This record gives sequence, C-alpha cells and structure tokens, in this order.
Amino acid sequence: KLYNQVQDLKGSIRVYCRVRPFLSGSSYLSTVDHIEEGNIIINTPSKYGKGRKSFTFNKVFGQSATQAEVFSDMQPLIRSVLDGYNVCIFAYGQTGSGKTYTMTGPKDLTEKSQGVNYRALGDLFLLAEQRKDTFRYDVAVQMIEIYNEQVRDLLVTDGSNKRLEIRNSSQTGLNVPDANLMPVSSTSDVIDLMNLGQRNRAVGATALNDRSSRSHSCLTVHVQGRDLTSGTTLRGCMHLVDLAGSERVDKSEVTGDRLKEAQHINKSLSALGDVIASLAQKNPHVPYRNSKLTQLLQDSLGGQAKTLMFVHISPESDALGETISTLKFAERVA
Ligand code: ADP
Ligand code: MG
Repeated sequence: KLYNQVQDLKGSIRVYCRVRPFLSGSSYLSTVDHIEEGNIIINTPSKYGKGRKSFTFNKVFGQSATQAEVFSDMQPLIRSVLDGYNVCIFAYGQTGSGKTYTMTGPKDLTEKSQGVNYRALGDLFLLAEQRKDTFRYDVAVQMIEIYNEQVRDLLVTDGSNKRLEIRNSSQTGLNVPDANLMPVSSTSDVIDLMNLGQRNRAVGATALNDRSSRSHSCLTVHVQGRDLTSGTTLRGCMHLVDLAGSERVDKSEVTGDRLKEAQHINKSLSALGDVIASLAQKNPHVPYRNSKLTQLLQDSLGGQAKTLMFVHISPESDALGETISTLKFAERVA
C-alpha cells in the first residue's frame, strides 16, 4: 500500500539523468540547452550549424538539484526494500560526471552533501523505527569492488586482498558469502563502514592512476524483517553501485594494464546494458552470465526486482561525445 507510487510507474526499470554543475574555475559553454520535465535537450553544434537532440527519461535533474531532492525522488524505491523487494541502483557515466557525488558525496563530506548511500541507510533505520511495533528488522551491509573481473572485499581491516567467488545462494541471499557482512543499526555505524570501504578502495591509487574510476563498487544492504504478529519473515536486498567510468579509451593510445582494464570495463558495462535492455523489452533470454557484475546482481535484476539506472553527464562542451554516448546507453535501457 505504501509503495503504490513505485508500482504505478511503468515497469520496474527506471532511468534518471543528472547533470553535474560546472566545477569552479571552468567557464565552458554548456552542452545542455535546457531541461523540461523528463526531457534533456543537448546542443550538438556541427560544422553545418546549431543542432539539438532531445532524450527522454523518467526524471532529469539539472545542475542546481540538491542531494536531498535527488534522494527524495528515489525514496519510495529504496523504502520498498523493507517490504521485501530487491533493488538495484546504478550510477553510470564518464569519469568526473558526478557518479560518486550522487552515491557517496564530495570528498569534504557534510551532512547536507551526503549522497544516496548514507541517506538510504538513514531512511531505512527511520522507517524501521516507525514500524517497530509491528515489525522487527535486521540490517547488514557488504561492500565489494569488481576490478578486472575480480571481486574483492572492501570491508576488511587486515589489508587482505583475497579474490572472492560469486555464488548464488537463495538460502542466505548472499551472493558473495565470503565478503564480510556487517550488522548496522545507526548512521554512525554506516559512516564508519563507508570510511573503511573508501580507504580500502583507494589502496594502490595515485592521483594519476585513480583505480576507483576503473572499478565498480557495490554497497549491498541486506534486510531481514519479522512480522511480530504473524511471525512470518521477509528478506530484501539493495545494491547501490558506483560503476567504473564509461569513457571509451582509444586503443591506439593505451597498452598493457590500462588496455586490459578498459576492455574489462567495456565488457561489463555492455553486459549490464544488454541485461537491462532485455529486461526492459521483456525478452525471455536475459544474458546474465556475460560479466561478474551481472552475475553478482542476477537475482536483483528482473523478476520482482526494481532497477534504477542513474546516468550522469558532464556539462562541458569538450565532453559532448561522451555525453551523447551516455545518453544513448540510457535511452536503450529506458
Ligand atoms: P565520478 O565519480 O563520476 O568520477 P565525481 O563524483 O568524483 O565523478 O565528481 C567529479 C567532481 O565534481 C568532484 O569534485 C565532485 O565533488 C564534483 N561534483 C560532482 N557532482 C556534483 C554536484 N552535483 N554538485 C557539486 N559538485 C559535484
Ligand atoms: Mg567516482
């Protein structure tokens, strides 16, 4: 009843778009002509003159959208986890377009600038508290990274770097059973774990060699609820995914490790696009097996699960090529 709003939306796949503001110091012309409701109109100048192209999504957030506004649009979807739904939220876009800002926030984090991950957990705790006379909820999180098609635990304290297996266990609902599963019951628990995860993600990264932009990170929230009157239990799971940068890499310019990374990213993002597009088209064959990412999320993509593809674009005109390719990717799954 509470989530009719979600069910009323067409299908279970939604696509949102957010435009990053200009970063201080940059004074480019914006590629975004204007935004009206779910449409974003992009300026596509060519040698033949001024052009425009329009893309349609469930929701478009302009440069002035706040973290609170963005979250409030996602809130019904996130809350449905407490009713036993599986939810996947993906942040997609080229490096620098604002994926991490949306999901986590800026480096100098304040309460106001907190991203979806913090707000989602805070909101689940709040709602669980409101339902405490009828329901008892347990919430636990895992945080993993997929880099070069290898899965690694981000919630380790001993620096261990073990490769983890993906197993689809409908018994426990844990697809990476060997990754630490940490119970959380307050926003301060969440802040501690997010800090740990971010420290582990940064390991080995230098300024020029920012690994976080070339790996997918996934915060998974596992919820178990017990109806205190009937004794029945339910389980819901939410994956909050900050994807690797979607920019195309010029194969003539990179070699070795960098080329291998680019190929892995390319493969997994196109596998994700294929899965979501076949779900959107209600295609009976869904190609989950083509990447670690889609294997990991298999039981939270399709069926009763709810998916939000949240694409991010940079407004600068020198990003136009990547912006168009991001919007085309999103249009394909919309
Ligand atoms: P990505 O994760 O896609 O590589 P980031 O989230 O790191 O991109 O964003 C790049 C820079 O832009 C960061 O300094 C970030 O704080 C800033 N930024 C991104 N989105 C916004 C926004 N909506 N408002 C203010 N600053 C933003
Ligand atoms: Mg990032």
